[in-house]
Amino acid sequence: MAEARSVLREKFISADVGITGANFLIAETGSSIIVTNEGNGDLTQSLARVHIVLASIDKVLPTLEDVTTVLRLLARSATGQEFTTYATFSTGPRRPEDPDGPDAYHVVLLDNGRAELLGSEFREVLRCIRCGACMNHCPVYNAVGGHAYGWVYPGPIGAVMTPALIGVKAGGHLPNASTFCGRCEAVCPMKIPLPKLMRHWREAEFEQGLTPTRYRYGLKTWAWFAKRPRIYHFCSRFAAAVLGALGGGTGRFSRLPFAGGWTRDRDFPAPQGRTFQQLWAETRRGVPR
Ligand code: SF4
Repeated sequence: MAEARSVLREKFISADVGITGANFLIAETGSSIIVTNEGNGDLTQSLARVHIVLASIDKVLPTLEDVTTVLRLLARSATGQEFTTYATFSTGPRRPEDPDGPDAYHVVLLDNGRAELLGSEFREVLRCIRCGACMNHCPVYNAVGGHAYGWVYPGPIGAVMTPALIGVKAGGHLPNASTFCGRCEAVCPMKIPLPKLMRHWREAEFEQGLTPTRYRYGLKTWAWFAKRPRIYHFCSRFAAAVLGALGGGTGRFSRLPFAGGWTRDRDFPAPQGRTFQQLWAETRRGVPR
């Protein structure tokens, strides 16, 4: 920390322009707010001669009162704190009586497709305060990590936002990577119905004929089996037993034929040899494990 401080402090002091984002903007006062636990943003916005705030339009809240409510939600949902260590409000350039602050203060509002979401079935996603709770509770995110999402926002909120920003053709695979367990919606402090919004993207992808052919045929094949429970149970028991035996050594597969995408960046866990139905039946019969 001492090393970083000695190198970086000089850069902060000598910079002409400090650029920050904003956790929120207040329409009533024209303020921008940044929330940090380290105070790093405060140097950026108070030491340089010019402070530029770059924030998307969904960060704008009507009043100071609204912001105080949402700030409490943000800290509790993000890190479980009562309140963030630093919540710094900037309202324009330095006044003569102020001890510090920039000579000039500019706010740049970024739309990047968000205005199109207003009035659409995705409107509710604009309530997001980027607390990350949906992501931290998501079993898919916990298994694959953030980089697998390939864009700025990972997790369930990323699965809804990304197709809105780069198009359903490029980002349509993200809302498909969900089990729809509903945990994201349950923990979201802004009550954003994330599974419903991901389902809308799946519908859009289907209606535009973008679903890859092999998915469509794969699902049709699965549906054929699913409608015939006896055959389905027999085949799933057989597959679980074979894959369990093949992967029994390490418990993982580093390569899978016809499904290389699964194992390109990580191993695939091998089934343990018995299906859920078998385990369930054994539990009901009281078979000891
Ligand atoms: S969608 Fe909800 S839980 Fe997820 S980051 Fe946004 S506000 Fe937080």
